[in-house]
Amino acid sequence: MNAGRREFLKSAVAATASAALLPVPAFAQGAAPRVVVVGGGFAGASCARALRTADPRIAVTLVETNATFTACPFSNVVIGGLRELSAQQFTYGRVAAGGIAVARTSATAVDAPARSVTLADGSRLPYDRLVLAPGIDIRWGALPGYDEAAAGHMPHAWRAGEQTLLLRRQLEAMPDGGLVVIAAPANPFRCPPGPYERASLIAHYLKTKKPRSKLIVLDAKDAFSKQRLFLNAWSELYPGLLEWVPLSKGGQVTSVEAATRTLVTDFGRHQAAVANVIPPQKAGRIAEVAGVADRSGWCPIDPVTFESKLQAGIHVIGDAAIAGAMPKSAFAANAQAKTCAAAVARLLAGGTPSVPKLINTCYSLVAPDYGISVAGVYHPSGGQLAEVPGSGGVSPAGAPRASRALEAALAEGWFRTITAEVFG
Ligand SMILES: Cc1cc2nc3c(=O)[nH]c(=O)nc-3n(C[C@H](O)[C@H](O)[C@H](O)COP(=O)(O)OP(=O)(O)OC[C@H]3O[C@@H](n4cnc5c(N)ncnc54)[C@H](O)[C@@H]3O)c2cc1C
Repeated sequence: MNAGRREFLKSAVAATASAALLPVPAFAQGAAPRVVVVGGGFAGASCARALRTADPRIAVTLVETNATFTACPFSNVVIGGLRELSAQQFTYGRVAAGGIAVARTSATAVDAPARSVTLADGSRLPYDRLVLAPGIDIRWGALPGYDEAAAGHMPHAWRAGEQTLLLRRQLEAMPDGGLVVIAAPANPFRCPPGPYERASLIAHYLKTKKPRSKLIVLDAKDAFSKQRLFLNAWSELYPGLLEWVPLSKGGQVTSVEAATRTLVTDFGRHQAAVANVIPPQKAGRIAEVAGVADRSGWCPIDPVTFESKLQAGIHVIGDAAIAGAMPKSAFAANAQAKTCAAAVARLLAGGTPSVPKLINTCYSLVAPDYGISVAGVYHPSGGQLAEVPGSGGVSPAGAPRASRALEAALAEGWFRTITAEVFG
């Protein structure tokens, strides 16, 4: 045998051996491949639907604790008294009508080697690939004094629903002249511009309904999303009413005393009539249980497929994932869901996922007719999702009020479109 032929045979044997180590594509095994998606929010429900669109042969099960999903985007408008919570609520009827099995229960455990998810009743759902999209959990106790009982006095309202209504009712019950305090957390957390949109819409409520009141934002950071636009708008719309205290000026809240609604910083104590504490967060608990969260509490992923870097066969999307430069937003969750669904469908068919580009836009309302936005395009780079240089930007400073009104209308249109796409 000549040397060339010997080399060919050697590499053919090596290729056969390594192919034997690769998982056999699910389609090649005959039965319809099974994908389980845990969490029916902006990431999970989008992903379940996109999987069925990508390949209707995939058997998709969506596991979701709640019968009704309550959306966070625009929940600040509810807190500001300008919208009802019912406008934020969606059910899973249309998702199920699209051929997705919706299991209304919680996932309590994941057996990664056996490829199965355990449900609250102890039953097991087998999968070929698992997508975890559980959103966030609060890190109870990470801010001393802030536990689940404290949230009943000082709502976080960072998962929409009862907490949203509690904060609104507290504002409504507060006499004119009261002090409202918002505590904003350090990065990373769900919706980077969210605390500042909330401050704006609470300030709008106070200005129109309780003008002798005051709002202080105590911040654990010195910089935040769309900062210049927010600060300019605040001095135009809410002068003397809204004060932002950054980290370097003593803004970091170091503990709270729920019974008296007191927020403590290194520089002093603020006793509030209404206190909105937005606490430190982490990936939803099932991520930790499944072994896909790292010591940061969030989930490292491959930026092409969203497959966990810690557990093969499990993908993580939405707020729970460490998505590099992409913010934790509903827009981003939806974009990640579609990318992940396309990758999972390809992998199940034995193909290679294509390299994605993902877009995010975050609108914020500074007043009902005053919108601003930030946008970016992201791609895999150096094992992470990085912003495509020069791709992004924010609304122009000094734009006329008509542009701000247009952006407010665009924000509304975005919410209608995304919720129709995900749940409608
Ligand atoms: C005040 C506020 C304003 C915001 N405004 C905007 C905005 O204007 N634009 C924007 O793009 N984003 C906005 N966001 C951010 C947005 O809400 C989140 O980024 C988005 O909801 C993330 O989607 P997700 O699917 O990862 O998580 P979620 O939407 O929270 O969905 C997670 C789902 O998983 C379910 N779940 C969790 N664990 C389990 C389990 N073990 N078993 C079964 N089900 C489970 C939960 O019940 C939930 O339905 C805002 C957030 C806040 C708090």
